[in-house]
Amino acid sequence: MELLSNSHNELTLNPGSIQPHGVLLALSTQLEILQVSSNTQDYLGKQPEELLGQPLSYLIDALDLEAIAQLPTEEIDTLNYLKLSVCTKEGKREFDAFVHRVGDKIILELELTESPAQVNFFNIHALIKRAIAKLKCTNNLIDFLQLAAQQVREITGFDRVMVYQFDHQGAGEVIAEAKTQELSPYLGLHYPATDIPEPARELYRRNSLRLIPRFNAQPAELIATTDDTPLDLSLSVLRSVHPCCVEFHQNMGVAALMVIPLIKNGNLWGLISCHHQTPKYVPYEIRSGCEFLGQIVSSELANKVIQEEVDYKARLESLRSGVVESISQADNLKDALIQPEPRLLGLVGATGAAVCLDGEISLVGTTPDLEDVRSLITWADTQVNDNIFCTDSLPKLYPEAETFKDIASGLLLLRISKLRHYYILWFRPEVIRTVTWAGNPHESIQVHSDGSVTLCPRKSFEQWQEIVRLTSAPWQECEIDSALSLRNAIVGIVLKKAEELAKINQELERSNRELASFAYAASHDLKEPLRGIYNYSVILLEDYASALDEDATEFLQTVISLSIRMEALINGLLRLSQLGQAALQLQAVNLNELLDQVINVFHASRQQHNLELRIPRPLPTIRCDPVLMNEVFSNLITNAFKYNDKAERWVEIGYLDQHWGQGGQGGQGSNFSTVSSPDSHSPITFYVRDNGIGIPPHHHQTIFKLFKRLHTQEKYGGGTGAGLAIAKKIVERHGGQIWVESTPGEGSTFYLTLE
Ligand code: ADP
Repeated sequence: MELLSNSHNELTLNPGSIQPHGVLLALSTQLEILQVSSNTQDYLGKQPEELLGQPLSYLIDALDLEAIAQLPTEEIDTLNYLKLSVCTKEGKREFDAFVHRVGDKIILELELTESPAQVNFFNIHALIKRAIAKLKCTNNLIDFLQLAAQQVREITGFDRVMVYQFDHQGAGEVIAEAKTQELSPYLGLHYPATDIPEPARELYRRNSLRLIPRFNAQPAELIATTDDTPLDLSLSVLRSVHPCCVEFHQNMGVAALMVIPLIKNGNLWGLISCHHQTPKYVPYEIRSGCEFLGQIVSSELANKVIQEEVDYKARLESLRSGVVESISQADNLKDALIQPEPRLLGLVGATGAAVCLDGEISLVGTTPDLEDVRSLITWADTQVNDNIFCTDSLPKLYPEAETFKDIASGLLLLRISKLRHYYILWFRPEVIRTVTWAGNPHESIQVHSDGSVTLCPRKSFEQWQEIVRLTSAPWQECEIDSALSLRNAIVGIVLKKAEELAKINQELERSNRELASFAYAASHDLKEPLRGIYNYSVILLEDYASALDEDATEFLQTVISLSIRMEALINGLLRLSQLGQAALQLQAVNLNELLDQVINVFHASRQQHNLELRIPRPLPTIRCDPVLMNEVFSNLITNAFKYNDKAERWVEIGYLDQHWGQGGQGGQGSNFSTVSSPDSHSPITFYVRDNGIGIPPHHHQTIFKLFKRLHTQEKYGGGTGAGLAIAKKIVERHGGQIWVESTPGEGSTFYLTLE
């Protein structure tokens, strides 16, 4: 790297000297020689003293003078190239001349034209044309730059040609290299930003190409007449090399250097740097060809970089639309997000991710452990701005992360919903991309206590690794955008699904209501014709008995009993549909009193006296609809006695007060807390237990369906099969549940809860 500076900087150059492979003349606007380099004797055969104060015509003839004088004023501020014939001791010699103006002085630099015969415009033009044609065929940035390095090496013959790219902090990385076989590769090496101080970068931005043919050459001092104000040699092609830069390169075994800056959108993007182990002069024609190639590379660079970015964005986009499609099709948001795993990681270029939905965390790839992620979310949520928080140095902000820096020095957290606790976190490891620095990056410059800096060349170029501590690769803007777009999509889909669900619910409620009112109307209207059938059948049987034979009488009796049965069924249906519509009359009900009424009615309607009703302890007072609960208990108690063939029948009514370990329908069977008072918030589980015939397990659910009976009409006193369906509906309308446990032959226990 070349260390240069301007006069405003501490890093002052050796302003009064040039490299000795040419001569420099500073002229007044009248083309009088004011300053010359001390080596004029070597090239022109004239001592500086002989030249100072002379008009330029002393060296060159009128035609060439005219060419200089005619340089347009706007161009003279930049570097201009001319071929000049100069009078020397050996007569007229051809020189490559570089002319530019600084303030009120014209700087004329002369290099002897020493090009070998094959170095001519046509040959160089052909080489450059071929190089450009090849460059056009490359697809990606790295191939493109690799080819550029190869072409520059082919054209110039340097031992090593490298392409450096600067990162956002100014550090350089060798991203392409062409070299002779015996040199060890520098590809992948990083150079600290301090290797090229800002003034030197500024010069690279302004100058197209820099050549240092011989680092160990003795600089030629500038000698002035009376005016000895230092010349600004920023644009000079012969500008001398800072001693520090000389030492830097000599340490690397570099004897000659040529640098072609790569400019993207007006900024110094990188350099093509050419090294040679022995001194190497590059003729102007070749330099100018390389300069041109550098400009082509520079302008194509922007396209290639944009193309890379566009390709990457397209990749992110396609991954994201994959995720979004999965989410919109799947019922399970988590699975849609985390499968396939590489897709979730690729969305933002991460190595690990955590998906947190309703507080439940799923981990993907390389991540901190679950508890670390949980605490991290709590902390990071306080840092979120516009639903996102990202950092490439998490442990510096959140010291707890130091323990998992290898996994998560970089964090990108996306908040989807704070309320629902929906987050996606992505992680990147510490840049144990262990940057391979070329030498100690801190050694190239020294900052003193007073703030001044001195250049201090790095002594060692052995490869060593500096780990960028506690820092991950930075999150790119397009990656952050990708995460935010994902959030918008998820929120959109979830909202849409919620709306759809609400609509379905509304629709369901409406059709439920319609169904209930239909069932009510239908069953209500059916009753009247049914009564007619019944009445007329009875009349026929009673008044026309003499006209009927035995068969007809029997048929009529069947019609009557079927219509009675049908009425019972219709009543059941009617009752069920009424239950769906009427509002609950909730009130505090003392269940002991309620059961007394049930039992009284029960006794009044039953002839048998071998019934034993057991209530082991008083029941609590609960909030319920007394009429409906009366119906539930009546039905359960009636069934308990009906479906019982034991000589001693009993039924027990009570409630549970302990943790109850058996699984019931819907999981109610676990963890019921002690019932201590009627206003306890835990639902109370009541039971009605009998020693009856029992119910086979495969019927434990079906008996609650409407009109479902397990026996023929004749057995166990008949029934419609509506009783348990009605009981279930009543319990559910109270927000509770009902289920049965039973052992055939031993008895059944019906459980019910009320919210
Ligand atoms: P039903 O009017 O037939 O009693 P339910 O809906 O009350 O109608 O009961 C449905 C079926 O469940 C009954 O037909 C009977 O087979 C069975 N069942 C109900 N309770 C019991 C019980 N305590 N013991 C045995 N079987 C029962």
